[in-house]
Amino acid sequence: LMQLSVPLNFIGFVYREIRQGLTDIEQMFDLLEVEPEVVDRPDAGELAVGRGAIAFRDVHFSYDPARPILKGISFDVPAGRTVAIVGPSGAGKSTISRLLYRFYDVQEGAITIDGQDVRAVTQKSLRDAIGMVPQDTVLFNDTVAYNIRYGRPSATEEEVFAAAEIAQIGHFIRALPEGFDTRVGERGLKLSGGEKQRVAIARTVLKAPPILILDEATSALDTTTEHEIQAALDTVSKNRTTLVIAHRLSTVINADEIIVLRDGLIAERGTHASLLAADGLYASMWNRQREAVQAEEQLRKVRESD
Ligand code: ADP
Ligand code: MG
Repeated sequence: LMQLSVPLNFIGFVYREIRQGLTDIEQMFDLLEVEPEVVDRPDAGELAVGRGAIAFRDVHFSYDPARPILKGISFDVPAGRTVAIVGPSGAGKSTISRLLYRFYDVQEGAITIDGQDVRAVTQKSLRDAIGMVPQDTVLFNDTVAYNIRYGRPSATEEEVFAAAEIAQIGHFIRALPEGFDTRVGERGLKLSGGEKQRVAIARTVLKAPPILILDEATSALDTTTEHEIQAALDTVSKNRTTLVIAHRLSTVINADEIIVLRDGLIAERGTHASLLAADGLYASMWNRQREAVQAEEQLRKVRESD
């Protein structure tokens, strides 16, 4: 029995290592959301990206043919501008970002960047041009520095530090026991949703792509964190073509255009002011969120006075 237990323990050890390895690979696939069915055309060229003007033209898409998700979506994100997509959960907002990054191909219509159909260019050149800050950032089981440098492996230590400052996460990292060498992820220090998102922003700052896709975190962030994230996002999106998927309407007030998605169609579009004046879906979403914020503040005041 003694003789057997050693190899069994060893096998258990190897098994756990492999399992952990698999978890890392799974996470990496999650991180990249790799979709093997999307392949480059044999004649695919490199995306020649200028300032990165995005156009969606009558885009139709479904994950399952029985259930259409996008039913004819058209909009532009002019070079250097910011367009926000808002709407109820499940409306297809994140799907729009996945199509632009080409995790999936549209079934009808087209998506172009500087006039080039995303299906006609290599995925590598497309993804090199886009910085994606996803809704749920998965970190590698490695140091904070590694996780930030992933955006541009050739970046110097100073550039990594500077990116962290821009992403409003520098002060937090410096206060960690081992600073930038602190291990994070499943096996290391677990970061909050807001902290992980700022690491992802720092990564994107280093990558410095012409196009940005920001899928905001849904998880409730405290006001300080929200302000820090907003400041970070404002800095990175300046002069970059930005598509922002917003759950908190307070973050889209300054967008050049706001698109309200509902049931796979554009229900309303305009600026914050024009949509409020239209007194439709956006205005009711805005009022609801404002009431929720006020109720929260009210509750805090009551608690504080106790
Ligand atoms: P939003 O970001 O607006 O909340 P999504 O674009 O993530 O919505 O999803 C739109 C709809 O598509 C949802 O009903 C969702 O359940 C469905 N969906 C999302 N991803 C997949 C997938 N990989 N396979 C099948 N259905 C999906
Ligand atoms: Mg989403």
